[in-house]
Amino acid sequence: MALHSLLERQLRRSFGSVDDVPEELMGFINLVEQAYEQSDSDRKLVDNAMRQSSIELTQANTYLREQSEAKAEVFDQLLEILKVLHPDSSNASEVPISEIVSTIDRLIKERQETLIALEKAKHEAESANRAKSDFVANMSHEIRTPLNSLVGMLDLLQDTPMNHQQLECVQTMQTSSEALTDTISNILDFSKIEAGEMETEILATDIQILVEQAIDIFSGKSREQNLDLALYIGPDVPQLVMTDPTRLRQILINLIGNSIKFTEKGGIALRVDAEKEHENWRINFSVEDTGIGIPDERLEHIFRSFSQVDTSITRKYGGTGLGLAITERLVQQLGGEIHVTSQLNTGSTFSFYLTADQATESLNKSLTQELEGLNAIIIDDQSLTMRTIKLQIESWGLRTKVLSEPSKIREQTAENGNIDFILLHSCSSRETSAPLLEFLCRKESTTIPGILTIGSTGTDKTSLYPERHLQVYNPVLPGALRESMHKLLESKQLSYDATLKSPEGRKNTISVENIATQAPFNILVAEDVEVNLRVITVFLQRLGYSPDLAKSGLIALECFKKKPYDVIFMDIQMPEMDGVEATKEIMAHCTLNDITHPYIIALTANVMSGQKTAAEDAGMRDYLMKPLRSKHLSKALLKAHAETR
Ligand code: ADP
Repeated sequence: MALHSLLERQLRRSFGSVDDVPEELMGFINLVEQAYEQSDSDRKLVDNAMRQSSIELTQANTYLREQSEAKAEVFDQLLEILKVLHPDSSNASEVPISEIVSTIDRLIKERQETLIALEKAKHEAESANRAKSDFVANMSHEIRTPLNSLVGMLDLLQDTPMNHQQLECVQTMQTSSEALTDTISNILDFSKIEAGEMETEILATDIQILVEQAIDIFSGKSREQNLDLALYIGPDVPQLVMTDPTRLRQILINLIGNSIKFTEKGGIALRVDAEKEHENWRINFSVEDTGIGIPDERLEHIFRSFSQVDTSITRKYGGTGLGLAITERLVQQLGGEIHVTSQLNTGSTFSFYLTADQATESLNKSLTQELEGLNAIIIDDQSLTMRTIKLQIESWGLRTKVLSEPSKIREQTAENGNIDFILLHSCSSRETSAPLLEFLCRKESTTIPGILTIGSTGTDKTSLYPERHLQVYNPVLPGALRESMHKLLESKQLSYDATLKSPEGRKNTISVENIATQAPFNILVAEDVEVNLRVITVFLQRLGYSPDLAKSGLIALECFKKKPYDVIFMDIQMPEMDGVEATKEIMAHCTLNDITHPYIIALTANVMSGQKTAAEDAGMRDYLMKPLRSKHLSKALLKAHAETR
């Protein structure tokens, strides 16, 4: 082993040559050297530990400290022995041993200082990281607050009289501010993930409703882009599972949003399947599109943050390159994995699964029982939608036959009078359905199959034979399809409202203008930000209400004590007394004085995990995210009306 140069010099000076150093002393010196080498490798260990999680780092530091204390003890003992063995050399020149001692001493001190410096650096890094995520969270809040009122005001502005040019400007401003809100939400989520602060809230979740709602968000966009949007839910998918609905919705919205963004013609299909894995369920999702696809060499980087296929794509489609990175982390948090397959200019499929416990019994099979064993002919146009629909109706027990040529339908019906449904794609409906219906109508009424045009856009609402022909509008959801099939079955003689599932048909039965008459509520709005207060007041006034206003939770409580309200819109974050606290006080006041509890709707700009539970625990009945939109407000009021009637 090579000796420390200083040590070697001193030994030579004391003993003439290193070879002349007494064996025992040399033995001890080697021991010291080994310990020094050991301490060097310990330092490397600390370096590695720095890169690991802070828990591991703390453990490594503790271990190192113990090691170094133990080694310092060994050093002390060695020095004592050295002094005993060579009292003379120390007395004679006072050089060799004292220098050896001071060298070793210095090394120990240096090492201790390094450890202290490392500890300090670790603390600084941790607090800098905390400060960074706090800063990002605060910044996003600061940016989001004015942006929320901007989105709300633009929503209002759109309903005022404007010329075409003004309307276009407002719509552009609205699209831009919505895009900005999305970007800020992405950055906030990403910084939360980076700081390890993204929590999950596991609740009993109705998968079917959640998936349909996620798809519904894109119904307008898909219609605008003339894209099909279809959903398949497998027969084994349990109705309620334990998962985080907010995160699952976010994953689906990211993936469907991307598919719509990167698809110019054709469509998007979301498929959900489930399989039992020991005690848990594994729920498989796939989002397939017929879009631009992703080049092979980019596939493996696609889930990295800030990764986009190329800059021209960014310019054309926008985006931050954070969506998929966030999606992957969220999927992992829900106990799953995500992967992608893609073919350039053909399309991409993002598949992921999550693991979850089942909350209650499985899907209500009676809903599809009536359809079991019936026969359907699918006129196949090779579209993703028709393939998805085929899968869906087969899962309900229907027998399907695929015809590539619509003209063959005549032979089929002649051969087999037992056909219950004919399903065709809306693209071919005009040319195919009219002659088809005419032909079928000449037949015996009891044997006439019901015709379903799948994926209609809502523009073509007229049907020549509404009693035999229904349109299932885009997005094609299993519930709507099932309902249409039942309608056709129930009575082949009755004439149906062909607009049953049209976008207009989906509206609530109470018209928006009528809400205040039908649901005459006394409303209080508690919100501290002036512009937000203005937006919500105008929204409510337009619905026919005259709300009272409170600028803090405390004022809201005082107002309520003077005059009990039916509905309170309560901001969560307010000075003096926040929304949750104010709700608790109001609820306690009602119980004490035997007053009917008001229906309190939380308003929040922040999707903090745990916040929703806190709001519910305090007694809030509903939860609205900012930016507020008038349709969300009217929906919430209709819900309040239904629940308090
Ligand atoms: P962005 O906000 O830029 O869309 P994402 O992380 O969601 O960020 O996506 C990263 C990149 O992956 C996109 O810019 C796009 O190039 C590619 N990509 C994602 N989804 C699809 C898809 N369905 N089809 C084609 N390319 C996609």
